[in-house]
Amino acid sequence: MMNTFKEHVFEKEFWHNIKLVPNHKLIFAKQMIEKKKAFKVKIGQWKAIKIYLVDGDVVKIKHDMDFVEAGNSAVKHYIPKNEVWLDAHLDLEDIPFNICHEIVEFFHMETYDMDYEKAHNIANVAEKQMRIAHEHI
Ligand SMILES: [Zn+2]
Repeated sequence: MMNTFKEHVFEKEFWHNIKLVPNHKLIFAKQMIEKKKAFKVKIGQWKAIKIYLVDGDVVKIKHDMDFVEAGNSAVKHYIPKNEVWLDAHLDLEDIPFNICHEIVEFFHMETYDMDYEKAHNIANVAEKQMRIAHEHI
C-alpha cells in the first residue's frame, strides 16, 4: 500500500502535476466566499481534477453536515465529477495539505477502485508525510 502511494502518487503523479493559484489569489477567493459574494472559486487543478474553495457553511446546510474541511467527487455525491472542494474557512497554510489528502484519496478510489476507508487512510499517511516534510524545511 505504502509503495503504491510513494511510487505512483507522491513522486510522479501528484507533485509534478498540481497547479495552484498564487497566494494573493487564494486570499481573494477566500474573501469572496467569506463575504458571500461567491459560493465556489477555482483555485487549482491536478490533471483533470478541478480544485475549488467553497462556502462550507452552505455545503453543510444544503448537502451534508459531515462536510469537514474538504471533500472530493469520488466520496461525496453532491460534488460534481472530477472536483475537489475545500472549505474557505481553512487556514491558508493548511490548504496544500488538504489538497494533498483529497487528491490522494480521489486517485486511489478512482484508479484502484479502492473503498473509501482504505483510500482515506492512505490519504492520511500522505498528508502526514507532507506536514512532517514541511515542518523540517
Ligand atoms: Zn479523507
